[in-house]
Amino acid sequence: MAAEARACSETLRTKTTLGTLSFLSKDLLSMEYKTKDALGRDHALCLRLPPTYPDTDPLSMGPDTRLRAFVALPVAFDPLETSAPRRAHGEANGLPSAGAGAGAGGLAGIFRRFQDTVASLDPFWTATAALDEDTWVLEPEPEAGSAKRVGFDYRRILVDRHVSMILTFNDPTETELGPSNPRVTFLGPRARVEAMEERVAAFWANREQRDPLGSSVVAYLEEMLGQVLPRRPRQDGTQGEEETHQLVPMCGICYDSGLRTGKTIPNVTCENPKCTQVYHDRCLLEWLQSDQTSRQVFSKIFGACPYCSDPIVCKLLGNC
Ligand SMILES: [Zn+2]
Ligand SMILES: [Zn+2]
Repeated sequence: MAAEARACSETLRTKTTLGTLSFLSKDLLSMEYKTKDALGRDHALCLRLPPTYPDTDPLSMGPDTRLRAFVALPVAFDPLETSAPRRAHGEANGLPSAGAGAGAGGLAGIFRRFQDTVASLDPFWTATAALDEDTWVLEPEPEAGSAKRVGFDYRRILVDRHVSMILTFNDPTETELGPSNPRVTFLGPRARVEAMEERVAAFWANREQRDPLGSSVVAYLEEMLGQVLPRRPRQDGTQGEEETHQLVPMCGICYDSGLRTGKTIPNVTCENPKCTQVYHDRCLLEWLQSDQTSRQVFSKIFGACPYCSDPIVCKLLGNC
């Protein structure tokens, strides 16, 4: 069996069309398989085979002895899901050849399905990489040691000092830009949010053709909003510290924007258009609870904005 696995690993290393087996444990049961997307970035599939392999076909195992797969993808990936006919039990002996067709079972089939899944997401990878590169992404945080956020199907990006938007790719395999790809949700003072929502609706109402999703996503968003989106300042300091502070919404109570400390980003905004100060719900809740004039009604607490004294509402948090 060891020889077979090694042979398979060798074949996989040489077959560039199949990606690379980048790790194989001593017991030959744990492995990491890597394939590249259209941008040349690696995507890894980690597999753990049950100890009974290869006496049992990994495609016909029960839940207790299932092989386990770990991936960071914005879509579900089930290594055992296949529309191809399964091999007869008698043939399930040893590893199939790495050059087998797309319908093949066994490890090569799993690798190929993973590769197909990664490839099917190329428009999504390109669009999200453009967002990560050319806008100011507030959430999610990039993976440690890289600028990648591969497992996530959304981006929350900064629009200006008071407004951010969440872009959700509900179906990351969708290849065209449209009113719901990505779905846009604005966060900020109600009046500004409503105005932007109207603008977006008008933009799509007047647009006949559907353009492909890709690196032009940022230009699209800017055209849709009629404004240039701010970029995250470079580490080399081409954008000054002061400018950064003016742009990033800081909690009016703890003065933290959540960007450097990894804390959450302020998520409650004062509705007074002259104020529009933002707060963390936790900070605001604590503040309002300590204020004698605040009133609690059901799960909400009504009080005054610490900045402008206009009415402000905060939901009580789950653990309060
Ligand atoms: Zn705060
Ligand atoms: Zn206020």
